[in-house]
Amino acid sequence: MDSHGLPVVKVSRRGANRLTDGHVWVYRSDILAADGVPPGALVGVIDDREKFLGAALYSTASQIAIRMIAKDAVKDLDGLLRKRLQEAIAYRERVVRGTDAYRIVFSEADFLPGLIVDRYNDLLSLQVLTQAMDVEAVREVIVSELTERLRPAAISERVDPRVRELEQLPARSSGLLQGEKTSAVFSMNGVRFHYEAFEGQKTGAFLDQRENYAAAAEYARGEALDVFCYHGGFALHLASHCAKVTGVDSSRPALEVADRNAALNGREIEWIEANAFDLLRDYAGAGQRYDTIVLDPPAFAKSKSNLETALRGYKELNLRALKMLRPGGILVTCSCSYHVSPADFLEVVSQAARDMHRNLRIVENRTQAKDHPVLLAVPETAYLKCLILAVS
Ligand code: SAH
Repeated sequence: MDSHGLPVVKVSRRGANRLTDGHVWVYRSDILAADGVPPGALVGVIDDREKFLGAALYSTASQIAIRMIAKDAVKDLDGLLRKRLQEAIAYRERVVRGTDAYRIVFSEADFLPGLIVDRYNDLLSLQVLTQAMDVEAVREVIVSELTERLRPAAISERVDPRVRELEQLPARSSGLLQGEKTSAVFSMNGVRFHYEAFEGQKTGAFLDQRENYAAAAEYARGEALDVFCYHGGFALHLASHCAKVTGVDSSRPALEVADRNAALNGREIEWIEANAFDLLRDYAGAGQRYDTIVLDPPAFAKSKSNLETALRGYKELNLRALKMLRPGGILVTCSCSYHVSPADFLEVVSQAARDMHRNLRIVENRTQAKDHPVLLAVPETAYLKCLILAVS
């Protein structure tokens, strides 16, 4: 079969409705026919009455079988990819301020499903999440357009072996795609950080928290505790406003980078290697007090099925933090689990406040930084919650 010169995928009524509602995914259970469509192909999508719905990228392995890339037929995929990259770069020029580290491409939210590109000063880091973005010709177009537009010193690729396995892609190691440079110093809100292309989590830093660091610093004061501090993103921002800052993380390598970052900024911060749950229980029990506490744990709910356990985890952390905050204190509490909705998260924090007999006022109800745009029709693009609360 052929539609506008593309291999054809036929979707069910439910799948078609999802697309007309503006979503860009169709799950495998809603695919009626995709005969002989190769992995990662650009396809034409039709509904059960053969009506043309647009062009999409196809995966033979993922539960998300198609990700839409255009509403019309795509004749020139290379040209479209180049245009989308230019638009993503232009969008950042409009919304990003005060940093040389930010996300340049955020997958679906930039109409480039399956592609992540982050900038750290003069280095770019790229992640490929789907069969379509892994096609050699597609990779070449992406690297060439990024090079032409941004002239980075180097482009590296961070590989998540689990993602490649799920997409049934051959194993591949992280490595340089262009240039030779692998380390840099980047800055956000005037705070400087070390960057190593092939170390740490995500592509190296939690860029989505950048605007929240600055917001938290505005209200922070006194003695501060940054729980799940990683490389010290919050701790280093708080340091200019607080008398004393302590960062806690269970990862020694993360704390070693945090310590180098503190030195880079001429700050004294105490780093503690510990399990946050144990440390908070012990400190709260021992009557330790703080004026500012940040909670930024890893995603507890990786899927809908462990939502209840995740909510219990968030509640426990917030309970302990509220126990330790002095009256007039500031709680900065985050969740990066998409499956925990903003309403769920508010409810959990509110329950913790009730149990601890504390009153909470929302100073700011925040989300991910603007370089991680939220596409309104694709709720999955909105995942980060960051509440700044005044505690009395
Ligand atoms: N706040 C950080 C990002 C935190 S990511 C920033 O803005 O950059 C989550 C961090 O939690 C990781 O560094 C991970 O090492 C740490 N972590 C995971 N489980 C932990 C636990 N049980 N106790 C302490 N730290 C933990």
